Amino acid sequence: MSTDNPFRQRLRRADVSFKTWLREADARGKDAGGNTDFAIGRDYLWIAFDFSIPLRWIRNVDPVGPGFTVVWQNAVAGSEEQAFFCVLRTGWGYNTKKRDKIVALVREAISKSSALPPQRTVTAAEVLPSCEKCGELSPEVYDLSWLTSFLMYVIRKSDRRVLCRAHGAVRVRTVTVYNLTFGNLGIGLLASPVISYRNIEAGKRNGAIGHAEAAVWMVLVTWPYLLVAAALASVVHFVVTF
Ligand SMILES: [Zn+2]
Repeated sequence: MSTDNPFRQRLRRADVSFKTWLREADARGKDAGGNTDFAIGRDYLWIAFDFSIPLRWIRNVDPVGPGFTVVWQNAVAGSEEQAFFCVLRTGWGYNTKKRDKIVALVREAISKSSALPPQRTVTAAEVLPSCEKCGELSPEVYDLSWLTSFLMYVIRKSDRRVLCRAHGAVRVRTVTVYNLTFGNLGIGLLASPVISYRNIEAGKRNGAIGHAEAAVWMVLVTWPYLLVAAALASVVHFVVTF
């Protein structure tokens, strides 16, 4: 990962004054289903953990429908680019109050930013996405979930990675084994198979793991449901033979 590439600045907590999670939105500002990191630094805005934009290149930050848009001049490609985001309210609907606050924060950061991004020429290849482990080009996005559950406690953590197939396979297997081990020690076991199915599906869709391997994982992660089914069957058996 090149550190003087303006679009690939490392997102470090120490460098940002504001950080949150947002939802990606469509061109009408409506939820398009996907979380993304959003962070404001002194000279950069991050619209994903691996995508930074120099604040001085940003042209507009405006509300669109229930969400908002960020428009920037890609000085490398000489084109204008745009992305849409929105904030969901807990439960149902959009949080436009928080949206307004974020729009105001970004505008303020732009007005304060004085640093121009490095004026060196960035080659087109450097702005292409690459695997965050090995740098291989044409990676895929993996949206996985970690699940930890103990007795009545359930913690679910989203995990977005940009990885090549080999590293994607490692990630999917690691998360699946973790969830199999630590996601089933409490009431989380009711949700853990569904979460694991989604993780495995993502791995299969991106070509990281094959159909045969995916099928084996699917069977392995299903055991909590077999347990529940067995418990229900024994209750039914008890009631019927009582
Ligand atoms: Zn890789």
